[in-house]
Amino acid sequence: MSHKTSHKKKVISLERTYANDFALVIRERGKEYFLNKKIKTCIKNNHEYYATVTGSEHNEYHVFISTSKSIHQHHELINYVCDCPCEFPCKHIYAVLLAIDNKQYIKPKLKPELPPKNFSFKKFIQMIPPKQLKKYLLQHLDDYKVVVDKETMKQYFIEYVPKESYEFYYNHLYNAYILQQNVEQELQYDMMQLREYMNHSDFQQAFLILKAIICSMIDTNHLSNEESVIDLLLKLRMYLRIIMRKADEQLKENFIVPWIKQIEDKNFYNHIYLEDVFSDIIPVTYKSEK
Ligand SMILES: [Zn+2]
Repeated sequence: MSHKTSHKKKVISLERTYANDFALVIRERGKEYFLNKKIKTCIKNNHEYYATVTGSEHNEYHVFISTSKSIHQHHELINYVCDCPCEFPCKHIYAVLLAIDNKQYIKPKLKPELPPKNFSFKKFIQMIPPKQLKKYLLQHLDDYKVVVDKETMKQYFIEYVPKESYEFYYNHLYNAYILQQNVEQELQYDMMQLREYMNHSDFQQAFLILKAIICSMIDTNHLSNEESVIDLLLKLRMYLRIIMRKADEQLKENFIVPWIKQIEDKNFYNHIYLEDVFSDIIPVTYKSEK
């Protein structure tokens, strides 16, 4: 009889290590939550866990747990927080500890976060034609004071700001959707940029942002029938129609039409509002070519 020595690292239960943080009744309720599959999502990113737990009356609570090695390496040190009204370690956190011990989490592959392109304010000012700059200064003249605000100027003269890539927009939003962090802020920024490029008739850049928004939602399964999603899709539908009307033939033929056909081929039309974004957008003249 031979005994094999196991070199497998001993897995230390977080639940057992931290059970004393929780009152007995909380542990019982937390275990029920775990067993009744009240944990909607639990995502692991390096040493951090982001979980959404369905509470009573269909409320959703967000639990965040981070772990770090203790000096003695005996167990992991953890920090936890839940956004429910409890002022003591709650059943939601306890349920998530059980989920982590049972490896019931997903480890998503995130996209690399691309930094924004280098921007030099001096270079930017130098690129603006003097006549346009004078016009701007006169418009923003207020009691002999000129307001030269960097962000306002960047929007006003967006054509002289280095353009970001498709991946820049897509990757940021993709990660935000996966981790459920800063989604609103990312969307707000992207929509503002999209509008600004539309206003400056840069339909290529506007289309690139629009495509990044829609693709990140599709790829992370964030198309839902929530009001905010529907509002967003309605706006995107309007922008896409304007782009189709105003963009030059080359952009339509080489970028927009192939993308819409790809969406059609992949059967993304199981969401009625997404379908509405694209329905009737390709003129018959394009459709007949095949
Ligand atoms: Zn809680």
